[in-house]
Amino acid sequence: MAKTETKAGKRESRAGKDQAGPRADAKRARPKPKPGDFLDLEALLTDEERMIRDAARDWVRDRVLPGIEGWFDRGEFPRDIAAELGGLGLLGMHLSGYGCAGANAVSYGLACMELEAGDSGFRSFISVQGSLAMFPIWKFGSEEQKQEWLPRMARGEVVGCFGLTEPDFGSDPARMRASARKDGSDWILSGTKMWITNGSIADLAVVWARTEEGVRGFLVPKGTPGFTTKDIERKLSLRASVTSELVFDDCTLPADSVLPEVSGMRGPLSCLNEARFGIVWGVMGAARSCYETALEYAKSRVQFGKPIAGFQLTQEKLVNILLELNKGTLLALHLGRMKDDGRLSPEQVSFGKLNNVREALRIARETRSILGASGITLEYPIIRHMNNLESVYTYEGTNEIHTLILGEAITGIEAFE
Ligand SMILES: Cc1cc2nc3c(=O)[nH]c(=O)nc-3n(C[C@H](O)[C@H](O)[C@H](O)COP(=O)(O)OP(=O)(O)OC[C@H]3O[C@@H](n4cnc5c(N)ncnc54)[C@H](O)[C@@H]3O)c2cc1C
Repeated sequence: MAKTETKAGKRESRAGKDQAGPRADAKRARPKPKPGDFLDLEALLTDEERMIRDAARDWVRDRVLPGIEGWFDRGEFPRDIAAELGGLGLLGMHLSGYGCAGANAVSYGLACMELEAGDSGFRSFISVQGSLAMFPIWKFGSEEQKQEWLPRMARGEVVGCFGLTEPDFGSDPARMRASARKDGSDWILSGTKMWITNGSIADLAVVWARTEEGVRGFLVPKGTPGFTTKDIERKLSLRASVTSELVFDDCTLPADSVLPEVSGMRGPLSCLNEARFGIVWGVMGAARSCYETALEYAKSRVQFGKPIAGFQLTQEKLVNILLELNKGTLLALHLGRMKDDGRLSPEQVSFGKLNNVREALRIARETRSILGASGITLEYPIIRHMNNLESVYTYEGTNEIHTLILGEAITGIEAFE
């Protein structure tokens, strides 16, 4: 008893000491870290960035979350929602002119994060539309091509897709078989593209094919004779997203369908670099959704007479998740600021893609375990995010390919072949 009093007395006297002076005032005024934004990353954003982020977050809350369980369950993407994304200014938002919002890279990243907190299918939609379909037209297209396509794509009236992967060439697209040959002033395009997001719902396909002048990009509108699509069914990942095969059977295209300003793999790879940047951010949105769900669940689920959040093993899981989620978000923000300064390299984007997708997938798996059996149903978002992240782990450069890119960057030795 006497001991306790002594301790309490000591505590009181320490508190008494602390109460005096300016240092004590500052200490008292210091706010406690919030579980949802532990490092106060909010303070690192500008007002405009916060405004764009909040608009995307509100839209996801109102338009994605109420429907996502059903869309995922039925394997559907609500095509009509494209116009709403266009109205919000999120399609091609990091491009300038031609009806695009001209936002900075950080704002684009924040929008990706909010959409992927809803579902990776929605983030995939804006990545493909903005970074893989609009970006090559904006960067490598003629003035006529830009005028014809970009404003309608920014409004979501025209949906685009990006055809690079083939049935036999995924990680090694430079060996593609799709080819285009000249026939007078026309081009004749033949070949098959596989795993193409938005394929069958797209009004315009940006297709990469080998030619005598190296790999070139072609704009192929839906309905072009010889161009057909077939959806890939029975996916267990990215179910709220359309994935298709594109077939080009001696498809005749006019001379002005080729992107004039690029030839070689630089064309498609520069698009992938843009989309990968969005993924660095997006997956932290999916991870955040998993973390928030698991934290709430752990505080209310009682086992052995107390909330499971009160067990040290659960706290360790939640704390490890907190660390990776905040480090990954900080990394995304750092890369975003570098991109806005014009000094972000493709290898640094690979660093972000490799780390953040890997950690987001780990977070999804760990949070799934916190929910026990409830974690395997669509009632909670976690297993949906986890399954989606398996696709994100593979597309836009697999985990292994980004490892090889970084390995080469630090050793100077290429280990792809
Ligand atoms: C849902 C979804 C949507 C997609 N959307 C698009 C799209 O819109 N447009 C598009 O063009 N593509 C798209 N893709 C395709 C995607 O980019 C490819 O799946 C990806 O590049 C991997 O190719 P692959 O599946 O053929 O695997 P492979 O290249 O066959 O790889 C199989 C495994 O081998 C490993 N591997 C390959 N080479 C090496 C090596 N040198 N060293 C070590 N390991 C290696 C890979 O990392 C992987 O683990 C999509 C894929 C999915 C799943």
